[in-house]
Amino acid sequence: MDVKKRLQEITRARYGLELSQCGDSQLYHALLQLTQELSAARPAPTGERKLYYFSAEFLIGKLLSNNLLALGVYNEVNAALAECGKSLPNLEDAEPEPSLGNGGLGRLAACFLDSIAALGLPGDGVGLNYHYGLFQQEFRHRQQYERPNPWIEDESWLIPTGVEFEVPFGFGPVKARLFDIAVPGANSGVANRLHLFDVEQPAPAPADGIDFDKTDLPARLTSFLYPDDSDEAGRLLRVYQQYFMVSAGAQLILKELEERGCSPETLSQHVAVQINDTHPSMVIPELVRLLTQRGLSMDAAVEQVSKTCAYTNHTILAEALEKWPLSFIEKVAPQLVPILKELDARAKAAHSDSRVAILQGAAGKEIVHMAHLDIHYGYSVNGVAALHTEILKKSELKPFYDLYPAKFNNKTNGVTLRRWLEVCNPQLAALLDECVGPEWRTDPTRLNRLMDFYNDSAVLDKLLDIKAANKRRADQLFARDQYGIRLNPDAVFDIQVKRLHEYKRQQMNALYIIRKYLEIKAGKIPERPVTVVFGAKAAPAYVMAKHIIHLILCLRKLIESDPQVRPWLHVAMVENYNVTWAERLIPACDISEQISLASKEASGTGNMKFMANGAVTLGTLDGANVEIAELVGPDNIYTFGAGSNYVIELYDQKAKDSAKGYQSRVYYERPAVKPLVDFLLDPALTALGDEAALKALWTDLTTKDWFMALLDVEAYSAARDRAIADYGDRTAWARKMLVNTARSGYFSSDRTIAQYNEDIWRLS
Ligand SMILES: *Cc1c(COP(=O)(O)O)cnc(C)c1O
Repeated sequence: MDVKKRLQEITRARYGLELSQCGDSQLYHALLQLTQELSAARPAPTGERKLYYFSAEFLIGKLLSNNLLALGVYNEVNAALAECGKSLPNLEDAEPEPSLGNGGLGRLAACFLDSIAALGLPGDGVGLNYHYGLFQQEFRHRQQYERPNPWIEDESWLIPTGVEFEVPFGFGPVKARLFDIAVPGANSGVANRLHLFDVEQPAPAPADGIDFDKTDLPARLTSFLYPDDSDEAGRLLRVYQQYFMVSAGAQLILKELEERGCSPETLSQHVAVQINDTHPSMVIPELVRLLTQRGLSMDAAVEQVSKTCAYTNHTILAEALEKWPLSFIEKVAPQLVPILKELDARAKAAHSDSRVAILQGAAGKEIVHMAHLDIHYGYSVNGVAALHTEILKKSELKPFYDLYPAKFNNKTNGVTLRRWLEVCNPQLAALLDECVGPEWRTDPTRLNRLMDFYNDSAVLDKLLDIKAANKRRADQLFARDQYGIRLNPDAVFDIQVKRLHEYKRQQMNALYIIRKYLEIKAGKIPERPVTVVFGAKAAPAYVMAKHIIHLILCLRKLIESDPQVRPWLHVAMVENYNVTWAERLIPACDISEQISLASKEASGTGNMKFMANGAVTLGTLDGANVEIAELVGPDNIYTFGAGSNYVIELYDQKAKDSAKGYQSRVYYERPAVKPLVDFLLDPALTALGDEAALKALWTDLTTKDWFMALLDVEAYSAARDRAIADYGDRTAWARKMLVNTARSGYFSSDRTIAQYNEDIWRLS
């Protein structure tokens, strides 16, 4: 098909205009139509079994460039646009960005859909159509404020399907309407679907902020992802959302099964369900319910469901492992209660160990452990990095591993290099074409051949030039979209962008900034200027996370206002960090901050994107950092800090005796640490912000510091200083960049998905 000709037809029909006469928004909408047409023309892949990937989040980001690339017309379209002085990256400014996810878990789901389609496998996503997403972040008075993030325009990526199901809530039935987003596969000629369920009459955005009446159901079911759960109405709303998603999704599965002419008795032969974290866990009792409704015995239904569902664990943080009062389910979906009791009774009959029970607690006050449900009634349990899976087996889920060793397996996360290299870093992609051949685009292991250029000074220089160009571009976009703030492209770009959480330890990064600030004030001038970039949203009810954002924004202001410090140290924080900002900042990064407390970051995927784009990791031996370190070798990564075994040991000691284990006070008293922490109370800083918030953070660090920032801060500072010093040897640094990109092929989500298919899904 002649893409340019078709695009021209579209602009004439829509606006009566030639391509060259269209404005950016008109061109964007014409391209949206073209892309949708091309996707619709593709067949769905077929196979013996079809996968349904259930997830509360799909952090898909903008889709225009990504989908044009997958459809194989990116270059053609860009050439046609160039003739009228436009380019795709510019037009994408007109595309609203959905925030249907929170962070890594949701972005993983999006990368997986991309890879499933690229590998030509039959697999659709199932989720909810949140109208206002997570939230849009705003900074005012150096604090985070939240606003709705509306992204659905009259014309959008959503395709109405006309498919509807009734979800039987305790208060009555609610209609679920299905909208689809096409997922065209790169080089596979097929397209899958992301299925997003919505209510018939969704509520308008709240007038002010993101507060709304959480009992206004069903209208509010699809307003926000993760509504505030600090009160009971909020927690109930989450259960309503989860049941809405899984009940409609389970009905879709059985409808499609029937359309393929298969009987419900054969569910597991034809369907695989992947449960992404525990939010979709109620799909298990819901499928059992629907199968028994269709005439299967309880035994047969349980057997089919247990051979269909597989569970991915994403965290060992206790507060993130969902447990719902049975009374909530009684209210939301009373028909599930007898099924949950039956499933629990079967598990209890088979296993006397009370730690593995699904229902725990006294009669009338039972709590449902969602992960336990998944493990007993799923046929696979996977962790998301080698270390994480080992920790699940040896400690967090040990009683389950002892029962079901064969169910446990590891699938180290990955990222789609189409979005995270080809689209976001076209100059590096072109250099890779020259060096290793364009085959890396379908076979990422070919990136290993870049090692042949380890001593090629022309290639090393090009890597440095490309990095410098990406830094200039990031600086310009920052200045354009972030209140004119500049990044200084001549400085080392040291970047930490990810959800704000104490375990990810942005606070430890801030302590390092304080240390540098104090050194410069004392007359110790650094070897070279450094720009530290943060990007992070804090969960609206997570007070300590908001204090940490406040600290970073106050430090930014302090340093910016100080002519002695400003030339050497620069702090920037992106407002509303999202996929688009990730695509702009990651290619510009020199030092990738992956500094979570060892054992706490299940995998990380930001670490992989940075690595592919030639940033050098500064990190703990946590999550997939361990695998990165093995692949690049010790000369090409900066690791520091306590290891996971030691950290787990400290927590165990503390659990037995609170006077034992990690005591932050001991580390606070160390001469190199105390001044950094006490700076939170310094009038120079408190004058710029909310003294009570900074004091609360100080108190937490000195008395609790649950994620042990003070334990590692000295080793961290030393490693970071070393990295910044090494940056000065440009050739040696370029080699580190080269090795990181060369070894990043392993972290392609195409590899991850091939392994899921081989070991778990067996789709074709
Ligand atoms: C990749 C990505 C993440 C995950 O980052 P981690 O460092 O692994 O936590 C979060 N948000 C966005 C927008 C991303 O693209």
